[in-house]
Amino acid sequence: MGRGLPKQAPLPGVKRIVAVASGKGGVGKSTTAVNLALAIAANDPKVSVGLLDADIHGPSIPMLMNLSGNPEVTKDNLLRPLVNYGIACMSMGFLIGDSQPVIWRGLMVMSALEKMLKQVSWGPLDYLLVDLPPGTGDVHLSLCQHVPLSGAVIVSTPQDLALIDARRAAEMFRKVGVPVIGMVVNMSGFQCPNCHHQTHIFGESETAKQLGLDVLGEIPLHISIRESSDRGKPIVLLLPGGAEALAYVHTASKVVKCLERMASS
Ligand code: ADP
Repeated sequence: MGRGLPKQAPLPGVKRIVAVASGKGGVGKSTTAVNLALAIAANDPKVSVGLLDADIHGPSIPMLMNLSGNPEVTKDNLLRPLVNYGIACMSMGFLIGDSQPVIWRGLMVMSALEKMLKQVSWGPLDYLLVDLPPGTGDVHLSLCQHVPLSGAVIVSTPQDLALIDARRAAEMFRKVGVPVIGMVVNMSGFQCPNCHHQTHIFGESETAKQLGLDVLGEIPLHISIRESSDRGKPIVLLLPGGAEALAYVHTASKVVKCLERMASS
């Protein structure tokens, strides 16, 4: 529950809601959200996971999860999430056409988010991951106001320009009393496929630690992550034993452990 916010009602049947946020766009937040959702589910087959694409203007989840079509309406007049790879998903992309721009702002955007939270038959879910748009705008505050968040995961690449905005995102969550679980450092290193030399194109993860955030995991910059995303078969599923998938699997188990520790303290 947000310290600075009135008590929010939980979503029926949803145990934990976790925001996945970034300061800047293009740092790999949606890719991380999708692979974390799949890795949390892969780490424990008893666990059920959902994914809410809260990027109203630029929904990515339909493509990343290879999902399309319109959600059915249940007899209780709720939208039924679309499911692929065992993950229940909801996205603005399912409610509008592929190429249609969403030209809403302000209240309309917030009301779309509220609908995708509260008028969807989410439960039962152990974890609902919310892939937020970049920045710290209306959608972020609206999410914090509408539902109790168990925590926020910040995704950033390790260069100063992205980290400055990541710090802002983390501060926003702290201000509204949402615990920041830590940071996933994406594109943390690149290994040349020919000579195997390791280059830190975007800098070292040390800088992330200086922000006072726990580093939950470091995901390498690798063509297989981009290719698998474009194919709609995330790397955690496509090459499950590979180094890139394992980076997500380890990050996911750290996220879950942190959430459990926070819940019991
Ligand atoms: P955001 O949600 O922050 O805007 P995306 O998840 O859409 O970013 O990723 C932006 C682009 O970077 C996509 O083409 C994605 O496939 C690619 N990408 C993300 N993470 C990695 C990575 N670790 N290695 C290679 N490509 C990546």
